Amino acid sequence: MMDFENKVVLITGGAGGIGRETAQQFIDRGAKVEIWDMAEKAGKELAQKWTDEGNNVHFEKLDVTSYEAVKQTMSELQERWSRLDVLVNNAGITRDATLKKMDPDEWQQVMDVNLNGVFYCGKAASGLMRDQESGVILNASSVVGLYGNFGQSNYVATKSGVVGLTKTWARELGRKGIRVNAVAPGFIETPMVDTVPEKVLNQLKDQTPLGRLGKPKDIAAAYLFLASDQAEYITGTVIQVDGGLVV
Ligand code: NAD
Repeated sequence: MMDFENKVVLITGGAGGIGRETAQQFIDRGAKVEIWDMAEKAGKELAQKWTDEGNNVHFEKLDVTSYEAVKQTMSELQERWSRLDVLVNNAGITRDATLKKMDPDEWQQVMDVNLNGVFYCGKAASGLMRDQESGVILNASSVVGLYGNFGQSNYVATKSGVVGLTKTWARELGRKGIRVNAVAPGFIETPMVDTVPEKVLNQLKDQTPLGRLGKPKDIAAAYLFLASDQAEYITGTVIQVDGGLVV
């Protein structure tokens, strides 16, 4: 059983979807969890629920696209918990359109959250982790970042970019005791796929050897493994969790 007793875990975008389930699984294994998310109401309610159940949880309303906010809140996190063991860079958005129809604003919004946000949080977290000479950074990529996808130029560019960041940080931070890995989910049942037409989702199920879409718990399990001591010799890698969709 993976044990995160007294470990401090920061999850961006943890108020919903995959981030929420990942937070739950870390909490269930004894971690102290901090969540940064734009969704204030959902985040506060969750933190209250988990605190009422006797867990150590803190929520901050934060937009990962602001480096100033990320730096400030990271120093507050350090005061609050004294350390940071795991960062899950999970916050992400889509603004889908074909190359013909995508406007530069849609391109930029996705860059700001999915790529700049990952860079800002990774940079701020690695400062703390360097000082303590240990830590794990986990980044949310996607199978579409590895194989491309119709109508997702912006999103795919960021999810490929996240793979590049993961490999670069693994090289730069390994000697500092910091491991860096990415998870590339297939199509997972969260609000993010609400915009995908039912017909397309059914086709995706048909194409998936395991015959179903993914669930948030499938992705959370990969994050927990990569964050655990059982993965102590794994860095710079991308784990696909997609039911075999793109074997
Ligand atoms: P979701 O939309 O259910 O949740 C994303 C969370 O991020 C939300 O709580 C949202 O409020 C938060 N968020 C958005 N912008 C933010 C910002 N600027 N600052 C802080 N928080 C912000 O999404 P999900 O499906 O749980 O996806 C989580 C991650 O996994 C994303 O990076 C996504 O790209 C990736 N992913 C998801 C799928 C999928 O099929 N659902 C597949 C591959 C990769």
